Amino acid sequence: ITVRELADILKVPPNQVMAELLKRGILATINQTIPAEVAVSIAEGMGFLAEIKSVEEKIDQEEEEEPSENLQPRPPVVVVMGHVDHGKTTLLDAVRKTNVAEREKGGITQHIGASVVELPDGRKITFLDTPGHEAFISLRARGAQVTDIAVLVVAADDGVMPQTVEAINHARAFNVPIIVAVNKIDKPGADPQRVRRELSELGLIPEEWGGDTIFVDVSAKTGQNIDQLLEYILLLADLLELKADPTKRAKGTIIESKLDKQKGVVATVLVQEGTLYVGDIFVAGTTYGRVRAMTDDKGRRLKSAGPSTPVEVLGFEDLPMAGDTFKVVPDEKTARQIAEARRLQKEQLEKVSRGLALEEVFKKIQEGELKELKLIVKTDTVGSLEAIKKSLSDIHSQEVAIRIIHGDVGGITENDIMLAKASSAIVIGFNTRPDVKAKEAAEREKVDVRLYSIIYELIDDVKKALKGMLKPVE
Ligand code: GDP
Repeated sequence: ITVRELADILKVPPNQVMAELLKRGILATINQTIPAEVAVSIAEGMGFLAEIKSVEEKIDQEEEEEPSENLQPRPPVVVVMGHVDHGKTTLLDAVRKTNVAEREKGGITQHIGASVVELPDGRKITFLDTPGHEAFISLRARGAQVTDIAVLVVAADDGVMPQTVEAINHARAFNVPIIVAVNKIDKPGADPQRVRRELSELGLIPEEWGGDTIFVDVSAKTGQNIDQLLEYILLLADLLELKADPTKRAKGTIIESKLDKQKGVVATVLVQEGTLYVGDIFVAGTTYGRVRAMTDDKGRRLKSAGPSTPVEVLGFEDLPMAGDTFKVVPDEKTARQIAEARRLQKEQLEKVSRGLALEEVFKKIQEGELKELKLIVKTDTVGSLEAIKKSLSDIHSQEVAIRIIHGDVGGITENDIMLAKASSAIVIGFNTRPDVKAKEAAEREKVDVRLYSIIYELIDDVKKALKGMLKPVE
């Protein structure tokens, strides 16, 4: 803040502020910037209540105070998940084929990381292009909440497989509702009822059996029932009452980014709130820029993009990262200030460990930051997994709930690490270890991985951490 700005806020002549500064041994001119702490002390000296607020906090607050009077339904953002070879890619292709907009308006599909499917009646669904939970998880690991609905693809000739279970756990960990697409029903060996039975055991009970999960039998290959699947997605979207205010300044998430030889930095923004216009000035992660041009997933130039629209944006100063938040700000000075503040904060954060270590759990709970100890448990056998689950559920603590967000048999994978990072969980391996990629990821993301070969020791460690957290009995 400058001397003049402070004087304006305090409604006093600038020389009074300068005089106060002199008392503190600071000789400043009217346009000089003074430290925030000093400004606060002067304001308080004059009987004001003052607090230091970052430019970003100020903007966010202004926005919050602005009422959302124009909430309107927005298209759902959908991710397709499931076991390898169950037909995720084929399903996405089949879905795109139903695209009226593309056929009628002569667009050519561009890979920008997400695509919009438009039904004949004009309703739209946005699909993230990368199938599988990798995209979902890596976005989520960076704190971005982009998906509204997960379509779980399960091949009817194969049934529930390990990655099916993993996908369910990931979607659940982030409270993303699931629609099941029972795929490959054209195949001779297809048994859609078996898929229903197996998923029921995992808590996904079909509506026709009295549960609340939508199951649709489809063939991604022949296109059978794909239209029905889209209808159900929209039905669920209606139930979720997805809304956004298109009149606000745009906010969103970076879905993809790359350095193009000709175009420079190119990034796909999924607009989530407000409308993005060409010419808008924005902050994205630790970089900023001005929207020079926007193209949609059909290669068409756009002047504006509303909620749930993915657009490729040109005009970034630097490369943002997938998962970075994107938001439009009033002017370039603000954009630069916010980006700079975030860069500094990031540097500081990188110096301290970001992941959650078991020992830290205690502190976090005491500070009221953590009410739940989330665990990802990987074991060598189903038997040991069950035994560990049972023993953990026997631990009772009044203040902290233990929640196993993902339990499975097998080695610790990079996906486990990313899930742990995304949900502040601790990874526990019993007679199993992380593979090379998982080890690298754990180090990079600072995720606590604990390996045990004796159940008693595992349980004891968890107990110790929890007991330490319990307040002494009075
Ligand atoms: P992904 O690994 O989940 O993305 O699976 P893909 O989409 O690559 O599909 C794996 C294989 O299953 C491919 O050979 C597809 O042609 C085939 N496939 C996918 N959907 C169907 C389907 O509905 N019916 C039949 N018969 N084959 C399918």
